[in-house]
Amino acid sequence: MQNLWSNTDAEATVIRYAAQGIGRDLALRVYTTRLLGSDPRMVLHVGGNTSVKTTVRDLLGETVPVLCVKGSGWDMGGIEPAGLPAVRLEPLRRLLALDSLTDEAMVDFQRGNLLDSTAPNPSVETLLHAFLPDKFIDHTHANAVLALVDQPDGAALCRELYGSRMAVVPYIMPGFALAKAAYEIYRANPGAEGLILLKHGIFTFGDSARQAYDRMIEMVTLAETRIKAAPAVVRRTVPATVVPATASVAQVAPILRGLLSWSRPDAEDVARMILDFRTSREILDYGYDKALCAASQRGTATPDHVIRIKRKPLVVPTPATGALDAFRAAVRAVVDTYIADYQASFAHHNALEATPRQPLDPIPRVILVPGLGLFGLGASVKDAAVAADLAEANISVITDAEHVGRFVSVTEAESFAMEYWSLEQAKLGKTAEKPLARHVVVVTGGGSGIGAATTAAFTAAGAVVAVLDRDEGAAKVQAARIKGLGLACDVTDAAQVRAAFDQVCATYGGVDIVVSNAGAAWQGRIGEVEESLLRQSFELNFWSHQTVCQNAVRIMRDQGTGGCLLFNTSKQAVNPGPDFGPYGLPKAATLFLMRQYAVDHGRHGIRANAVNADRIRSGLLTDAMIASRSKARGLSEYDYMAGNLLGREITAQDVAQAFVHLALARGTTAAVMTVDGGNIAAALR
Ligand code: ZN
Repeated sequence: MQNLWSNTDAEATVIRYAAQGIGRDLALRVYTTRLLGSDPRMVLHVGGNTSVKTTVRDLLGETVPVLCVKGSGWDMGGIEPAGLPAVRLEPLRRLLALDSLTDEAMVDFQRGNLLDSTAPNPSVETLLHAFLPDKFIDHTHANAVLALVDQPDGAALCRELYGSRMAVVPYIMPGFALAKAAYEIYRANPGAEGLILLKHGIFTFGDSARQAYDRMIEMVTLAETRIKAAPAVVRRTVPATVVPATASVAQVAPILRGLLSWSRPDAEDVARMILDFRTSREILDYGYDKALCAASQRGTATPDHVIRIKRKPLVVPTPATGALDAFRAAVRAVVDTYIADYQASFAHHNALEATPRQPLDPIPRVILVPGLGLFGLGASVKDAAVAADLAEANISVITDAEHVGRFVSVTEAESFAMEYWSLEQAKLGKTAEKPLARHVVVVTGGGSGIGAATTAAFTAAGAVVAVLDRDEGAAKVQAARIKGLGLACDVTDAAQVRAAFDQVCATYGGVDIVVSNAGAAWQGRIGEVEESLLRQSFELNFWSHQTVCQNAVRIMRDQGTGGCLLFNTSKQAVNPGPDFGPYGLPKAATLFLMRQYAVDHGRHGIRANAVNADRIRSGLLTDAMIASRSKARGLSEYDYMAGNLLGREITAQDVAQAFVHLALARGTTAAVMTVDGGNIAAALR
């Protein structure tokens, strides 16, 4: 593990924060916290914590000794001084006299002693930091240390490796009891440079930020050396012949996503998951090694991972090309077993609790697919990525632990205590999900105009959106705005459409809603217009809708959780305008295409609806066209654009909202929604 300390960078950090009124102690605390947090082998996401004991001046001008300790919810890698709230140190220390303290009382007491009442909750490991006298304290869940402490003889291994330099603390759940035990062990081991927490992680101390950091790097490096020194284990690697026969990620993901949707008792709809796929040599080797897959079922590398990825990953069979029905049946069986085991384990441990716990969903957050890789699952893109990151760290720790000896984790009861921790339970149901959370939406022609407005409206409704556009630059720019996926796609090219849908499945796991929006307005008098122009318009304004929806339906059928097809038809489809035949004819066919999809796939829960918009300022109706048309009618531009029953201009945002409403209207299919401000000549029925 490389030591990244730099005097130049450290001093630059001190100077930069001094300008904001931040003292040297806290500035250096931020500097080394970031160094530790920037390496995924040290800590991931909100894991780990650090502290510094310093003083601050309160409002009355008095100097107050405080502990600046990481606030919960902050990542060490991107920490700022605000992520290390100051807590009055003396009251925290006086808690040492107590025999016991509930987690709720501890959190409340810590909050009550914050100098800034709006600061985040100090870490649940705050008291451990407060009880120890050292000025700087660093805590990580370094992979290499976990590989040694997650062993049946972890204590002996660590004593042999570190001697008296590190004191060993048995596994105790974070909170008051762990803080007190750590303090007693610290007192019994004078001169120790840190603590090894069995099945949990490592603490190092120092008089300076640099000393605590140097010790952390040294101790982790010693652990890495110890792992490398273990005799080599001959592992079965992936047979080269097996890999090409494995189905693709795009084929496999929708099947898994569908089978892992969870029918919530509190909702009519299923709770979908977003998937994040990862693969590497290490993941493939792990998936193919029976001993490692078995070890994966023994628990997580460090207990707080259980909150994000549950105790065990789901292991499914290798998906062979051409045998996906058999794969689906096999996965259904292992999913059923996983859920039944999870629920039985919950019932068993919950029965022993004084306060019954609220059951969490039983869906795994990690799926190992031998021959392919792994999927992280989550309610959002971020959660899925966190699950995949933690899964990769677990694979690394378990592989090393099995190399050194035998991987073990905390017991099932200890794991339950962490997953169903009262502090975690208290967070449940506090944040309501947006109406289209967990949904994957594809919008064609999404780079500009109505399409771009639609991508923004679905994003605001909680969905994750893929922006498809013939103009790759426009797709990427819009995707960056909405934090979605931008793909170049000419929807009249079937191969490009297939490739784009494959990419969406490989990125997010599937597709739930498609807004088939791409189109262009060709003009010409019917009976005179060139046949080639008419055919060109049919390619884009009819056939591309068919190609897009055919791909969408294939994926929706694989998922088996229904779906929604939305078409941008036009007023021309029902109310032809002069010389607009080349545009209106294919749009009329597309209106019936929508109805045919509704008729043929309603039985699969797939709905099809259209939005019939008119006179929207966009790439199809440019400012120049508006100027010439309003002039031709002898109207001002305003009167032309607002020439409808409501008397106001209708915008791309109005059309986008109609698409979102139709996506949410679970009882509506084969419908056309008019968005034209009221044009009675184009009214339906
Ligand atoms: Zn920890």
